[in-house]
Order: sequence, then C-alpha cells, then structure tokens
Amino acid sequence: MPEVINKPLDRQYFKKKANPKYKKDTQLTECCNQNVDMVILNKNNKEEWELIEDYCERSLQTYSNTESITPICCAVCGRLVEYSSTLKDSKVNYK
Ligand SMILES: [Zn+2]
Repeated sequence: MPEVINKPLDRQYFKKKANPKYKKDTQLTECCNQNVDMVILNKNNKEEWELIEDYCERSLQTYSNTESITPICCAVCGRLVEYSSTLKDSKVNYK
C-alpha cells in the first residue's frame, strides 16, 4: 500500500509530485531571503562567478556611461542579490 494513503493531499503534495525536488512552499534562504528554487548565480561557484563577470563586462561595453558595476552578493551564502552600477558624471547636470 502506498505510504501517502494516510496523508492529506494538499497543494503542496501535488507541487511536490510535479517537481520531486520541491520541498515546501516558497523556501527562502535565511541569510538573504532568496527563493531557493530560483536559479541564482553564486559568487562562490567559479563558473558562476565568471558569468557574473561576463555580465558586468558586457554591460560596461554596452553602456558607455557606466563607470563600474558591483555584483552585490550575500555575505553568507554568496548568492547574487543584485548588480549596482555607478554611472560616469552622475553628479553632472546636463541641460
Ligand atoms: Zn544568502
């Protein structure tokens, strides 16, 4: 007899059934509040860090007014949270 017979079949059950890797409703990392089911680049992974660098390089090449880009990563787990870019002449008011 299947083990699930005595368990309630709720939404979570079917989500898990559809995706065996699914653990519970919207799992967030405790350190940076990121959805663990989302594929997020991590600076601790060498290959992913290179992708982050590539993104920054491409952005610098594409947007000539961008001075630098800082990939902001979680200090605990290393997940990329956002990119922060500094614009050239950002203090200059063009008329
Ligand atoms: Zn984190």
